[in-house]
Amino acid sequence: MLKIDKSLKDSLIADCITNLTWEYDLITGETNTAEGVINSLGYSRFDIKENISFWTSLVHPDDIENLSKAFNKVIEGKSDYFSAQYRIKTKYNGYKWIKSEGKALKNNENKTIYLAGFHINITTAKQAEGSEQKYETLFNNVNDIIFLSSVNEDGTPGKFLEVNNMATTLLGYSKNEFLNMFSDAIYADKEYSKTYLLFCKEVLHDKKKGLNGNYYNFEVNLLKKDGTILPVEINTNIFELDGKVVNLCVMRDISERIKVETKLRAITKRNKEIVEHFPLGVVIYEEGIITYVNKLGLKLIGAKSTEEVLNRPMLDFVVPPYREISIERQILIESGYNVDCAEMDLYRVDGNIFIGEVYSAPMASKNNFLGISYIRDITEQKKMIEENKNLLEQIIEYDRLKTEFFSNISHELRTPLNILITSIQLLNSIYNNSKGDLNSFIEAFEKYIDIMKQNCYRLLKLINNIIDLTRLDSGFLQMNFENHNIVEVVENITLSVVDYTKNKGIDLIFDTNVEEKIICCDDDKIERIILNLLSNAIKYTKSNGTIEVIVKDLDNNVQISVKDTGCGIPDKKLGVIFERFRQVDEVLTRRAEGSGIGLSLVKALVEAHNGSIEVHSTVGVGSEFIILLPNILVKNTETYHNPLDNIDDEDQLKKKVERVNIEFSDIYH
Ligand code: ADP
Repeated sequence: MLKIDKSLKDSLIADCITNLTWEYDLITGETNTAEGVINSLGYSRFDIKENISFWTSLVHPDDIENLSKAFNKVIEGKSDYFSAQYRIKTKYNGYKWIKSEGKALKNNENKTIYLAGFHINITTAKQAEGSEQKYETLFNNVNDIIFLSSVNEDGTPGKFLEVNNMATTLLGYSKNEFLNMFSDAIYADKEYSKTYLLFCKEVLHDKKKGLNGNYYNFEVNLLKKDGTILPVEINTNIFELDGKVVNLCVMRDISERIKVETKLRAITKRNKEIVEHFPLGVVIYEEGIITYVNKLGLKLIGAKSTEEVLNRPMLDFVVPPYREISIERQILIESGYNVDCAEMDLYRVDGNIFIGEVYSAPMASKNNFLGISYIRDITEQKKMIEENKNLLEQIIEYDRLKTEFFSNISHELRTPLNILITSIQLLNSIYNNSKGDLNSFIEAFEKYIDIMKQNCYRLLKLINNIIDLTRLDSGFLQMNFENHNIVEVVENITLSVVDYTKNKGIDLIFDTNVEEKIICCDDDKIERIILNLLSNAIKYTKSNGTIEVIVKDLDNNVQISVKDTGCGIPDKKLGVIFERFRQVDEVLTRRAEGSGIGLSLVKALVEAHNGSIEVHSTVGVGSEFIILLPNILVKNTETYHNPLDNIDDEDQLKKKVERVNIEFSDIYH
């Protein structure tokens, strides 16, 4: 370096800056400003006033305080040097940043009386400093975490280079702590760091292609300094900065979003559960195609899995007569209108039909309306209503029959009673008029005693039947099961009515395909059954007719049939004659006497044997009553009762004849 004299050097520098100097007389307030300064602000000499008030009026209001402080320091003698940066108003372009440097001159009393110095235009520098500050403000005030970290040559993470304030606030580390940490230390999930590392490696591997545009977005949990978790959404980019590979991460706190999402997910799950377990079948459809069906819906339709139902047209499950109304409802619903609840026949997947009560409503979707239907299976309910209706009808019918029965019974009771009274009156008057000659009385007595006896039997039969039916109804009819030869029981009782058939000119035939068949039965009840059937056959068969009683052994059953060539029973009445109080002819038009309870008692007694009875009949040709009794024996009984044993006994025989007389009391000799 050339060695030159200091005074020469100073004069050279002074020459350069003379154009930028200023002076200020603190006593008078006068100023003296170099042309260069005035011009650099766009003014001319004529625009300015050389005093401190003028210059102060040009200073930016925000900088006045700073400037005053700088002056005061010198005026108060705290420093000899003056230095200040401030903005000063230019003539045309707003404010310019000026840096003023000066030195004070003091009088003998050590009071500052004069300042002189120079101005430098520092606007450009200030602007640069401003934008840097602006970026820093932005960097630190942004609501997201921002990290800048280095990336090693092999793709492994380097240390943090820059972190913003939000990073320190949210993660709890200080800036310094961050700058000493490796950038992968903040991730809670180590697995995640691996995928991220892979990304970095791939980017570096492809470095030749250029590093720009390597963005990576993902959601991850960060580990805060206090050990808690912060879920964030990361946008990251790897690029070259000043020749180094760096990684810029912008992370957004998504804990609120996750909370809302979790809540939403819980609500959605709960709603789904509610719909799944809804006590009605729920079906959702779009443009008539099923898109959802709940558990009960599947059960109603009889499907095992949703695949059997989903994506199928709703109409597939609607029975044809209901399809038209179903389409109308669907159009209304998918247009956003409500419809009334409807009942319709629906198909199950196996083709069976059930009655569904369907409530449907529109359900708003993104751009349109979906249809939601709640379905209840009311088949059973409907059946019950129908059954109740039938039951009610039966009760009404039963009541009607009861009324009819009572009028019938009254007739049945009155007729034999009238005959009895008339016979007694007649005998009485014959006796009174006999005047000691009893011959005519004895003649009349012999004639009427039989009529009286027969009518007493009629009354007894009626009362017996009523008592037995009542006992059967209340479960008190005693069944006396023993092993008997059924062929003999039936044959004996058949033969015991021969007198009656002969009397009426009817041929009575007994036939069997087996001589002896021992089964478990109550012989008294079998007698009642056969006598009842025979008395009907005789009642409804004219003379010259035939009555056949046939016993057949059919392996599992014993069949007893009572067949006549009588008047027969009309088809429509065949189904009701076994019902209580039923007679084919109405009370006033009857061809024969009877109360209409005989066959119902017969049926009940056959069923008490676990047997069955049916009738085949043709009007004008005749009727056949067929009884099937199970071919079983009473256990632990070695002997069986022979009905003939009973008949040996004189008393028993009398009783038996009496029973026949009672059962046949409504048949006139
Ligand atoms: P009833 O005491 O009136 O004979 P039943 O219960 O024994 O009552 O019979 C019911 C009805 O069935 C009779 O009133 C009669 O109309 C009809 N019926 C029963 N047996 C015969 C038969 N063998 N032939 C024609 N009709 C019969």
